[in-house]
Amino acid sequence: MKNIFNFTLKELQLEFVGKGFKKFNSRQVFEWVYKKQVLSFDDMSNLSKNLRTFLSENYSFFNIGVNSHQKSKDGTEKFLFELEDGNLIETVLMRHNYGNSVCVTTQLGCNIGCTFCASGLQKKKRDLDAYEIVLQVLKVAEVTKERVSHVVVMGIGEPFDNYENTMKFIDIINEPYGLEIGARHITVSTSGIVPKIHQFSNESKQVNLAISLHASNNDIRSSIMKINDVYPIEMVIDAARNYVLKTHRRITFEYILLDGINDEVWQAEELAKLIRGINCYVNIIRYNSVEEFSYKGTPEDKARRFHQRLLNRGITATLRREKGGDIDAACGQLRSKKI
Ligand code: SAH
Ligand code: SF4
Repeated sequence: MKNIFNFTLKELQLEFVGKGFKKFNSRQVFEWVYKKQVLSFDDMSNLSKNLRTFLSENYSFFNIGVNSHQKSKDGTEKFLFELEDGNLIETVLMRHNYGNSVCVTTQLGCNIGCTFCASGLQKKKRDLDAYEIVLQVLKVAEVTKERVSHVVVMGIGEPFDNYENTMKFIDIINEPYGLEIGARHITVSTSGIVPKIHQFSNESKQVNLAISLHASNNDIRSSIMKINDVYPIEMVIDAARNYVLKTHRRITFEYILLDGINDEVWQAEELAKLIRGINCYVNIIRYNSVEEFSYKGTPEDKARRFHQRLLNRGITATLRREKGGDIDAACGQLRSKKI
């Protein structure tokens, strides 16, 4: 049996046309599955009997189960989903004034192993399939009965280490006949896998790209992100520049503030110099403590000074307030469950 959630509209069209059905049939199926969320081919009443039989015989609806579900005081919700093979993954829903945003997981564990990140504590067990990422969004919408308008690929895992499935996931949730989540409402975050940033720059997707920079020079970046030894900061910045050139889109740099490590005003100066001239935006996030590590988040007044210095140097930047801290649903607090 093929899994219906693993198909983009184009792929489904190819399947259907190859079997003598019409191209528009795939649109109908997409609408049933994603817009009406009807998960039974028999109930897809505008399809011919022939097509319904073909679908029932060849395709099925793989599912993920809700293992647990926690709510934070600020409206953030954390879901623990159980995959078909029994593995557990975390997904977070954040409520904003502009809509509901879901933070999805792309891998079981993460091999990049940044020294501050809970997700890297467990080595990657496997990549998630596209449908396992799609279903995180669908399930959150189903449980909350609310529309998901934004998606951030910032849960556990390195999306560019699971590139094909992540791209497929984006195509599926972006589909106008499906969930219709606008490309501009989707953000992918990478630790800086340079060849994939280049590849992504050549995709014709209007999706936002964020790069986890977290330092203003190679010494400090390498000490907290091993990936910097493979793709040093100049290469990452070049790739970012090229992305902006190719896509005419603004790029986001994420910068978590780690107390005493990367949060001095001179580092704000160095960062401003490094990214000067790039159409970018710096998302400054105070680090959320993780039990297993001794890193601490920068105190608020120091964080404000860092932010202000960037602004003074003409860099667009925000200092973000975290959501969901009380249920360990804040950035980087997700970890894949060991079972
Ligand atoms: N692997 C990708 C995407 C997932 S991590 C990446 O690294 O970009 C999403 C963001 O959360 C990254 O910027 C990451 O550095 C940050 N992060 C990880 N642990 C954190 C923590 N404890 N507090 C705040 N941000 C954290
Ligand atoms: Fe992996 Fe991103 Fe965490 Fe680094 S910050 S360990 S790349 S999830």
